[in-house]
Amino acid sequence: MKLDILVLAVHPDDAELGCSGTILKHIAQGKKVGIVDFTRGELGTRGTAEIRDEEAADSAKILGLHARENLRFKDGFFKNDEEHQLEVIRMIRKYQPEIVLGNAMHDRHPDHKRAGDLASDSCFLAGLPKVRTIQDGVVQEAWRPRLFLQYIQDSYIQPDIIIDITPYIETKIAAIKAFKTQFYNPEQDGPSTYISSPEFFESVIGRSREMGKSIGATYGEGFTSRKLLGVDNLFELR
Ligand SMILES: [Zn+2]
Repeated sequence: MKLDILVLAVHPDDAELGCSGTILKHIAQGKKVGIVDFTRGELGTRGTAEIRDEEAADSAKILGLHARENLRFKDGFFKNDEEHQLEVIRMIRKYQPEIVLGNAMHDRHPDHKRAGDLASDSCFLAGLPKVRTIQDGVVQEAWRPRLFLQYIQDSYIQPDIIIDITPYIETKIAAIKAFKTQFYNPEQDGPSTYISSPEFFESVIGRSREMGKSIGATYGEGFTSRKLLGVDNLFELR
């Protein structure tokens, strides 16, 4: 199945935190959107890989995703090397997205930057015909997405572009809350972590308010681009 947008995320819940409003908005516009998670988040202090698989599936239903896969890379220790790039290239060629969204340029969690670099390098390499990958016994065709953007997650990064996600903020929060073991949930026990306090949601909403305010909207999600962005029509800019 061809996707319009492929979201690459190192941990199940990164896509939800970073860009699920944008995912929801484009699905509402009829676009096909999928997520490929790199790891099962098995190093997370709370929950297990199996529970997080179920949480990711629950969130996929809330978001209305057209596909969600997990590459089962090693949480915390995967590398941006040939072995891992070939796996990500296989996904890019399989889904042939116009647009790829990847983890942040840098962040508190060191996996995020490494995954963002892995996603960026793989988007480029996927366009080289001599890089050979096989899917279901068939040699894949080269495919380079025309746009790669990186969502902003924990650390504040000045965005290059902001998407108005105002109508989708409540569903975004519901998708994040599908990760019941990771975030504040009065019915869950477990050690407290950086992201498990009730204040964490306030910070997600606060970030979204800040991004939205700067473009005259209520809620927004920001992205950075490694290249200059162009539009066909000035009226698409606000
Ligand atoms: Zn993460």
